[in-house]
Amino acid sequence: MSEAGFFTTRLDEAVGWARKFSIFQYPFVTACCGMEYMATACSHYDVDRFGAGLPRFSPRQADVLFVVGTISHKMAPVLKRIYDQMAEPKWVVAFGVCTCTGGFYDNYATVMGIDTIIPVDVYIPGCPPRPEYVLDGLMKLQVKIQEHGVSGARSAPESRPAELVR
Ligand code: SF4
Repeated sequence: MSEAGFFTTRLDEAVGWARKFSIFQYPFVTACCGMEYMATACSHYDVDRFGAGLPRFSPRQADVLFVVGTISHKMAPVLKRIYDQMAEPKWVVAFGVCTCTGGFYDNYATVMGIDTIIPVDVYIPGCPPRPEYVLDGLMKLQVKIQEHGVSGARSAPESRPAELVR
């Protein structure tokens, strides 16, 4: 490996490492999953360990969009707009089975998964997901952020896991 290549690789690793412990999340909370989101944020689970303890309530200051709860078709354009307002690099977490697939709703009003509107990086199913499951999703997200480095290119969004296809 050339000297420049070595330097770029090391810089990528350092930036990825720093960024994965500096997660500024924007919570887009619409429904009952919000209770479990708040439970996870409490001291017992200590999301500060992952550098994710400080939510931002402006999408322009956030790099991770946490979509928490059922999304209706009426709400969909708002969600898309919030996503568009976030600067790159940015990531999206689908929190709860309603955001992943529409959940047990199968009606005219509910979006059948937010990946039909915006790209999703981590799926956390469950109704609602247990905090341990949320932490598992957070660690998966950290791996994606680490891999991103300084390249500036968004990594390919995840496709919906087979068990969540409906
Ligand atoms: S997944 Fe369950 S707990 Fe979460 S918003 Fe849907 S119905 Fe509510």
